[in-house]
Amino acid sequence: MPKALVTGIGGQDGAYLAKLLLDKGYTVYGGLRRSSQGDPWRLQELGIEQKVKLVPFELLEMSNLLSLIREIQPDEIFNLAAQSFVATSFKQPLFTADSDAMGVLRLLEAVRMAKPDARVYQASTSEMFGKVQAMPQCETTPFYPRSPYGVAKLFGHWMVVNYRESYDMHASSGILFNHESPLRGEEFVTRKITVILAQLAHGLRQDPLELGNLAAKRDWGHARDYVQGMWLMLQQDKADDYVLATGQMHSVEEFVNAAAPVAGFDLVWEGEGVNRLARDRSNGKVIVRVNPEFFRPAEVDVLCGDPSKAQKALGWKPATSFEKLVQDMAMRDMERAECRKTESAKLSARVAA
Ligand code: NAP
Ligand code: GDP
Repeated sequence: MPKALVTGIGGQDGAYLAKLLLDKGYTVYGGLRRSSQGDPWRLQELGIEQKVKLVPFELLEMSNLLSLIREIQPDEIFNLAAQSFVATSFKQPLFTADSDAMGVLRLLEAVRMAKPDARVYQASTSEMFGKVQAMPQCETTPFYPRSPYGVAKLFGHWMVVNYRESYDMHASSGILFNHESPLRGEEFVTRKITVILAQLAHGLRQDPLELGNLAAKRDWGHARDYVQGMWLMLQQDKADDYVLATGQMHSVEEFVNAAAPVAGFDLVWEGEGVNRLARDRSNGKVIVRVNPEFFRPAEVDVLCGDPSKAQKALGWKPATSFEKLVQDMAMRDMERAECRKTESAKLSARVAA
């Protein structure tokens, strides 16, 4: 039975990847950062919390990485742990660099010292293309990161290339474009949209959904499809770098328009720039408006990937359309909001009784 160590198992991709590896018969060790917030809810949602072996994991702590890899002796290591939110990277650039740049180097050093024949997957990102130098972006497109997150990930990316070339390690980078799901963090724009529209629809919130740059365009795929590509990269005889993307992009406003009908809203847009807003046609209520607080110091305006290399070499292609992705996310958040409403109604009834 092969052994895999998945770092950042408490995150979106960690949960989907752990499920995929368990289904393939792996023993899965999940690196989890200490938290006072309780159980890893994503593993619970997928029903696998009891099936993975959770181990304390901190990218900043070299001795922790070294002793874990020495003890577990994993065949495959998927390094998904990172400070993954671009906006936070502007507010916490040093922590981001320590986790997303130096953390990768620490991990590679630990592997080189304790299990040099382990196969390593590094979670690189389309944010490394930043101010894009070509359309669409592929493995050979020059990088131009636009945030501390993008810069830190680029350091990690080149370290993977360097360890592969210097020490003949089987280390691969997946340059993944944005991938979302009902398990996405609520700070990312897609999930923020589906959560808040569902709350508005169920009367759990009155204030409109406030967004930043509505014109930003992303190549959004489904996380479940992308973890399959991660696994495929480590099954190749030779390590390499691959772009995973859908090849199609949509704006933030288009995402809102696709999610709104699931929450029962028929939106009418008006105004431009910071004055742009959307009302519900039935009653004129403002549902979406722009708040400059969510603009970034430097923006990545567009990202669109070319996944041809992964399609050809790995036989990978995304299975979920943009429309299906938005439906899945918006419907799941409507169910969650319904549950929350029922729970609070039960609580009020108990208090009144
Ligand atoms: P995520 O949901 O934010 O998960 C990241 C996980 O890393 C979290 O569980 C987090 O723990 C953990 N972590 C953060 N800092 C850590 C540290 N110093 N030591 C140990 N663990 C730490 O991100 P995701 O969407 O699953 O993405 C997985 C990876 O792919 C990340 O590296 C991300 O940067 C990269 N990526 C993601 C996308 C995307 O669109 N999702 C695209 C390209 C690349 P806490 O929960 O305790 O914070
Ligand atoms: P990113 O591509 O990793 O930065 O993923 P995000 O989901 O955080 O952001 C995607 C795009 O949506 C970026 O260009 C953001 O500037 C834009 N955006 C617009 N409004 C918001 C918002 O309210 N929150 C977030 N997170 N992003 C927003």
